Amino acid sequence: MEKPEAPKERVEALLQDKLEDGSVRCNVCQRRCTVPAGGRGWCKTRLNSEGKLYSLTYGKVSSVSINPIEKKPVYHFLPGSQWLSLGSLGCNFRCPGCQNFGIAHMTGPVNTFYASPQDLVDYAKKNSCIGISWTFNEPTLWFEYTLDGARLAKEGGLFTNYVTNGYITEESLSLIAPYLDVYRVDVKAFSSEGYGKVANAPDFEGILSVTEKAKDLGIHVEVVTNLIPGLNDDAGQLSGIASWIAKRLGEDTPWHVTGFHPQFKLSHVRPTPPSSIQRALAAGEGAGLRYVYVGNVPGHPRQNTFCASCRALLIERYVMDITKNRMKDGACPECKETVFGKFSY
Ligand code: SF4
Repeated sequence: MEKPEAPKERVEALLQDKLEDGSVRCNVCQRRCTVPAGGRGWCKTRLNSEGKLYSLTYGKVSSVSINPIEKKPVYHFLPGSQWLSLGSLGCNFRCPGCQNFGIAHMTGPVNTFYASPQDLVDYAKKNSCIGISWTFNEPTLWFEYTLDGARLAKEGGLFTNYVTNGYITEESLSLIAPYLDVYRVDVKAFSSEGYGKVANAPDFEGILSVTEKAKDLGIHVEVVTNLIPGLNDDAGQLSGIASWIAKRLGEDTPWHVTGFHPQFKLSHVRPTPPSSIQRALAAGEGAGLRYVYVGNVPGHPRQNTFCASCRALLIERYVMDITKNRMKDGACPECKETVFGKFSY
């Protein structure tokens, strides 16, 4: 992809309410900031200039790569397919263990380049990608750009994927839903206290309800919980997440429990021990979830997909590579049980 300089101009923000005193309410994410004249929102990527809110990151790309969809991780939507992944700047959370804190928390200067929505589609096609993932930083933050990109992607026959912390508002999701195929959402904890610790987020119920809406709208949903020792890996929170998935999203919904790598402000915390992973697997089984995966533990047998009915091995993985795929027409080759997800197009 060519890397022209990012444009200086700003783009008028969607979903803003003008208030009487010149401030503006932003309704793109659940923080719903009231931004005073001349000020920026909590995320720093939205500016109130003379009573109008502008996005400052439209088309500003900080990171780009091409990977299999397994890297997100998404395991039940066209396994093994290549996707264009890209991210920008900023976040509406402040996770102390953030894997991408440089771009998400903007802790120092970050190089960006400009790519138009059409550039994304062209680049994805040129590189044999079947879809575009907005990832690396929270995609809601450059909502206007992802919406334009998703529209063009669908027109161009590509699939689309949000890798999100789920703090998007229902209004934003409603706008982008017609152009969104996959919603890969983090559920980081199952209490306000837990969310405060792992994300510095004020609440979490809205994350659950918007995810349920995504499911209701027919978007493919997969859930990830990164297990951070002592913060979110107790049996109560894990059971809460697993039960909510089973009851509100469905027992077929994949749940990825991933190992934590100590870094950033949690570099003193130990990596996820096997006992935490076992607790999460037990919570998933107790809730009746049919597809629970273990991530960030190379060689772990629960990277693989097993038939939920006869337990036959269906897809064997190593990290993000598929090493064997025995599925036949979206079903188990042994007992013919249909597997949840999309396996052909
Ligand atoms: S996107 Fe969220 S954090 Fe940023 S200004 Fe809007 S409501 Fe605030």
